Amino acid sequence: MATQRIAIIGGGPGGLMLARLLQRHGKYPVVLERDQHAEERPQGGSLDLHGATGQYAMERAGLREAFLTAARPEDQGDRLYNAGGVLLFDRHDPTDDRPEIDRSALRQILLNSLMPGTVRWGQRITRIAPEKSGFAVYGEGWSEQFDVVVGADGAWSCVRPLLSEAVPFYEGVTLVELGFDVNRHPRISKLTGHGKMLAVGDNRALITQKNGYGHIRGYAGVRVAENLATEWGNWSGEKMRQTLRDVFARWAPDLQDVIETGEFMGVRPLYALPVGHAWKSREGLTLLGDAAHLMSPFSGEGVNLALADAVELAEALISADDWSGVRRYERTLCERAAVAAEGAAQGVKSVFSSMGVAPVLEHYRARVHA
Ligand SMILES: Cc1cc2nc3c(=O)[nH]c(=O)nc-3n(C[C@H](O)[C@H](O)[C@H](O)COP(=O)(O)OP(=O)(O)OC[C@H]3O[C@@H](n4cnc5c(N)ncnc54)[C@H](O)[C@@H]3O)c2cc1C
Repeated sequence: MATQRIAIIGGGPGGLMLARLLQRHGKYPVVLERDQHAEERPQGGSLDLHGATGQYAMERAGLREAFLTAARPEDQGDRLYNAGGVLLFDRHDPTDDRPEIDRSALRQILLNSLMPGTVRWGQRITRIAPEKSGFAVYGEGWSEQFDVVVGADGAWSCVRPLLSEAVPFYEGVTLVELGFDVNRHPRISKLTGHGKMLAVGDNRALITQKNGYGHIRGYAGVRVAENLATEWGNWSGEKMRQTLRDVFARWAPDLQDVIETGEFMGVRPLYALPVGHAWKSREGLTLLGDAAHLMSPFSGEGVNLALADAVELAEALISADDWSGVRRYERTLCERAAVAAEGAAQGVKSVFSSMGVAPVLEHYRARVHA
């Protein structure tokens, strides 16, 4: 097993964490990543790492100090407003154990921890085919044989179809992403407070979240048909802003500021795999992270699960002489993800409901008393 050729498809947090853990135990996988380099596209907003999953993985990877240096415990606050701009919930306790970290900072910590040459950038994988022994991985104009192929390639995984017929479905909600700068947008900064604010109305929501380096990331979330959401992806920022103005026309002026002043960053329709997604184990091929259990961000678990998956898959590949460890990993992963996926699906339903803010407020209060 020590000489296994391992390909990890996808250099997101899950794939990079797996590579790091394997290298610490004398295995030398390659990570095949379609981005040309780490800065090719914005990595998205801030993530909070949970103690038992995300933070535990950083610890196992020997990266706890690097994480703590980059993390922002001061940005764990939560605010909830109604559409009239009334603040209904405001909690800020920097001693909570869910420190935020920018997604790009997390990726950089993981990249810095790998041996040079581990990540092969600019390699979009187009096909995986079974061979007599192992699998052939096809990029654009090349192919290579591996004994083990791990699909860590996110929502639209090219590995998943070899294991499962499940296809992500559109959840009926699209987030329009907006960017702000604390210095240039003091009103948005004040509205956001120390962490994240959520404003909820009839089937629509606004979110803003503090990021590192004085940035704030915002989202306008709307229930919209999938074909229109796809069309939005081609619209200019100004055309998108005009549509959002109409959608949020009756909201408080302080909240409308989010739409008026945000820099348009892109359109993110929310997709998910069915809750409880599982597959029949197939020797040499497995999944982790979003490729295995894509869910909406409304559980705040996606990256934490991806990192926890990497810890358990690394252990399975290191310790067992056969595929039995990976089979056990897959069972654990699917059971754990089903719980989070159910929470994420419920989260979308309660934030984007015709009942407005009430169910969300109840959820926030219950969390404090839990
Ligand atoms: C708007 C939004 C907000 C979110 N907020 C949170 C949050 O607050 N907390 C949280 O825990 N989670 C959040 N998530 C979810 C979180 O981002 C994901 O769960 C997490 O990134 C999954 O990590 P991953 O490594 O499995 O996949 P990804 O991060 O998707 O990484 C997959 C990698 O594979 C590469 N790739 C894809 N296809 C190929 C291919 N064919 N060949 C080669 N490379 C390929 C991609 O370029 C990418 O680098 C959010 C998601 C969204 C969309």
